[in-house]
Amino acid sequence: MPIAKESYASLTLEETLAGLRAGSFTASDLVGAALARIERFEPAINAMVTLDDAGAKAAAARWSRDAIPAGDAPNLSGVPVALKDNIMTRGFRTTCGSKILANFVPPYDAATVEKLRAAGAIIVGKANMDEFAMGSTGENSAFGATRNPWNPELVTGGSSSGSAAVVAYGGVPAALGTDTGGSIRQPAAFCGLVGMKATYGRVSRSGVGALGSSLDQVGPLTRTVRDNALLYDLIAGHDPSDSTSLEQPFTPTLGEIEDGVKGFRIAYDPGLLESEGVHRAHADAVRAVVAMVKDAGAEVAEVSLPLVKYGVAAYYIICACEASTNLARFDGVRYSVRETGADMWDTYSKTRGLGFGEEVKRRIMMGSYALSSGYYDAYYLKAAKVRRLFATEYEKLLSGVDAVLLPVTPAPPRPIGQKCTPLECYLGDVFTLVANMAGIPALAFPVGAHDGLPVGVQAMAGYFRESALYRLARTVEKNVKLPDAPWARPIPEGGK
Ligand code: GLN
Repeated sequence: MPIAKESYASLTLEETLAGLRAGSFTASDLVGAALARIERFEPAINAMVTLDDAGAKAAAARWSRDAIPAGDAPNLSGVPVALKDNIMTRGFRTTCGSKILANFVPPYDAATVEKLRAAGAIIVGKANMDEFAMGSTGENSAFGATRNPWNPELVTGGSSSGSAAVVAYGGVPAALGTDTGGSIRQPAAFCGLVGMKATYGRVSRSGVGALGSSLDQVGPLTRTVRDNALLYDLIAGHDPSDSTSLEQPFTPTLGEIEDGVKGFRIAYDPGLLESEGVHRAHADAVRAVVAMVKDAGAEVAEVSLPLVKYGVAAYYIICACEASTNLARFDGVRYSVRETGADMWDTYSKTRGLGFGEEVKRRIMMGSYALSSGYYDAYYLKAAKVRRLFATEYEKLLSGVDAVLLPVTPAPPRPIGQKCTPLECYLGDVFTLVANMAGIPALAFPVGAHDGLPVGVQAMAGYFRESALYRLARTVEKNVKLPDAPWARPIPEGGK
């Protein structure tokens, strides 16, 4: 049956692939519809920093059904996707959401981009983000805030703000983001999507603008759990060009995704849900998942997670220390924008003073301070010890259970422009950064809606147990329907 062009936006990644294979539409149909929808939504949402109209159309024109691999081999042949703008694209501007990289054109593709291209994906452009991935609202971008397609008065969350928004408004069926302390899972939850932060070292970081190198992971944002697994399976695996990439053998997760949770032991901390600042709807969403997995044959265990309250302090020291080191390379000599001063030091300071935004400067100062002699032991070393406690506690806990459930965030998205203080913003990451500190995988997935906005839940598992997370989320997904999702809405009238 032919599919009306306006309906492409609501197709899942799997449905898109099936339609291409069946000949219901071509890559050019999809790319044309994607670009038209993006053009209409962008003035209101601002999800994209740079669009590659010409490149995407040319790639689509070269596509033919013969390019689809035979059999069940996973592929993305002919599917439009978007990438967070800290994932390098050869010959195509990559800004990391910063003025300092406003003209930066990388000479190579990130390892994950190589994999997507090899699988046949068509990259339509680069998605907006908080500058250098520092932020939880999407408002810290040098290219303006991204608005939430569910309600444009609200933030999308961050830092993968544009990746979430462009998938949520139906511009593309899938996007890649990065997650250092929650930046995939939090915007996924605020936009009604599924977002995976894999085991540290599972997905290559090669060619990704670094924030906290010991915490960063690339991962997929999609509308369904199966789509997420499909994309994750394509980007995961060992990469010798990333020294922290793990050689652990990789089994695709999609093959097991329908296996359910019968026999799983799933834990949650009921006390944590009662803590101050946790919104009722977010606590109730966790309780709803507990009930659903029980019904599906899992055993539920009540545990206590006492370390959670130390996470924000320790994470923000480690992340700032690593960020201050990583960002030292942006001095106006080798990269992009330069503000020439009277001498070398003046040039450095002018370039960095004008090129970096407020939050980036704050982290560079916090990180440099915490690493300076005399303070290193009191701050960095102490935070590193807390991090070790996280890894040990969660390894122990997760050797006895298949998954732990937590809210994604304590509170729903804020109105755009209602700035939080740095500390308020940082506290919003309390539940997500746990997984980055421990190095374990964590998945955010929608569970329902409250006040017309989607509400997500997060599940964390032991190292390399991404597959358990997908099985759990897939079980829950069968009970969930999100009302009036933006990807199913018609294209707005007018545009521009
Ligand atoms: N909000 C957190 C921060 O600002 C997480 C960022 C991320 O995951 N990239 O550090």
